[in-house]
Amino acid sequence: MKVAVISDLHSNREALEAVFERIADLGVTRVFCLGDVVGYGPDPEFCVDLVREQTEVALMGNHDEALFRDASDFNTHARGAIDYTRKRMRPNWFSGSEKKARWKWLQNLVISHDEGRFHFVHGSPRDPIREYVLSTDGFLNPDKLTAIFDCFDGVAVGGHTHHPGMHDESLSFHGLDGSESCRMEIPQVGKFFINVGSVGQPRDGDNRACFAVIENDAVTWHRVRYDFTATQRKIRETGELSEILAKRLTIGK
Ligand code: ZN
Repeated sequence: MKVAVISDLHSNREALEAVFERIADLGVTRVFCLGDVVGYGPDPEFCVDLVREQTEVALMGNHDEALFRDASDFNTHARGAIDYTRKRMRPNWFSGSEKKARWKWLQNLVISHDEGRFHFVHGSPRDPIREYVLSTDGFLNPDKLTAIFDCFDGVAVGGHTHHPGMHDESLSFHGLDGSESCRMEIPQVGKFFINVGSVGQPRDGDNRACFAVIENDAVTWHRVRYDFTATQRKIRETGELSEILAKRLTIGK
């Protein structure tokens, strides 16, 4: 098993292209996507097309799902971005086949994937699309994290919080060390929850795009610099997406 796992791309073309370049440089040929291909960013079609072409597994995230229901539980910036994305992407009777195919692909994303002892979701094994497994849950919300660990065996892999790292069964969270690549062993015995971080909108205070390469016995996170000023310019040019969504790319929060 050796697979690059990307998540939370959020319509950020520049970050996604930089990440795929790094994956190619690493010689990793299998790619899984854990969802939230769209939302927040300016380039949903490009990101959907690249993921459709290049990934072996693609899961449904809460932002992908929100295109097909109401986004009333989202904050205003996120809801505005869903409206922007839906307006661009939803086909009507007269739309071309490409547009229809993208929409159908998003609608039919699956919610989990299993391979060996690895269980892939967007959010958590208990609620695959929407639940957040927060880095702070071990000490602020131990009962919740214990209940989540009761829902799976082996190694669960998710995204959704945009905060990369690994929880072990003792509920400790191991964050990244700030280097360009950070490796942690995955022991053969015990349960672990790995968060692969976010490609298109990191929130751990590091503005570089993030993804992980998962092997049987180890996970390695990679951080990739990309031209976020180009993404910010495009966000502003839409005249629709919130300025906050541009600004946060500078600070990675
Ligand atoms: Zn997300």
